Amino acid sequence: MIPYATVEEASVTLGRNLTSFETVWFDYSATKEVMKTFLVFLPPVQLVSYPLIQMIEIRSGLPLPSCFEIIAQLVVYFLVEDYTNYWIHRLLHCKWGYEKIHRIHHEYTTPVGYAAPYAHWAEVLVLGIPTLLGPAIAPGHMVTFWLWLALRQIEAIETHSGYDFPWSLAKYIPFYGGAEFHDYHHYVGGKSQSNFASVFTYCDYIYGTDKGYRFQKKLLQQ
Ligand SMILES: [Zn+2]
Ligand SMILES: [Zn+2]
Repeated sequence: MIPYATVEEASVTLGRNLTSFETVWFDYSATKEVMKTFLVFLPPVQLVSYPLIQMIEIRSGLPLPSCFEIIAQLVVYFLVEDYTNYWIHRLLHCKWGYEKIHRIHHEYTTPVGYAAPYAHWAEVLVLGIPTLLGPAIAPGHMVTFWLWLALRQIEAIETHSGYDFPWSLAKYIPFYGGAEFHDYHHYVGGKSQSNFASVFTYCDYIYGTDKGYRFQKKLLQQ
């Protein structure tokens, strides 16, 4: 735990201003909610992970899955995650959900990679549902499951990174949202009723929740 209550207190003790990286690290690790999530909440969740994996019948023996099986299942997992996450995230933006739970994730109006898992413990729990639903519907091999979890985390970090890299997946995968898309969601903040989807852009397009984003993009292009 970082032994300072505020950034100012840390600056006085260190005798200098914190660097931007130190400020981000302070925000991330000194917040009680985040520490509560990682120290108190996640260990019990890890205890139930093994029986859960057995229950949804993820296999761990030989033969290993083919490339086709891995890619097909990953596509399903991303689509299921995106759709389910869209609706849960949209629900979290109702008055109660936002004030009690989701406001913590929105403390970052211009997110950085660290902001991806920065959320209330209840949000971490409930957003586990979209992550596990795909593997529960189309169970595969443990290798595919690990790959899925790694790719989902990398995608979330990239989406919150604040960088629109020229090699970003958004440039190559159709309907992929990326950092620019999710940045707008954080930029608009608590009142945001826009850009709810976690990975792709088509849910927001279909349900009409990307109008503000498209309007702003058009303005900036002019
Ligand atoms: Zn949100
Ligand atoms: Zn976010």
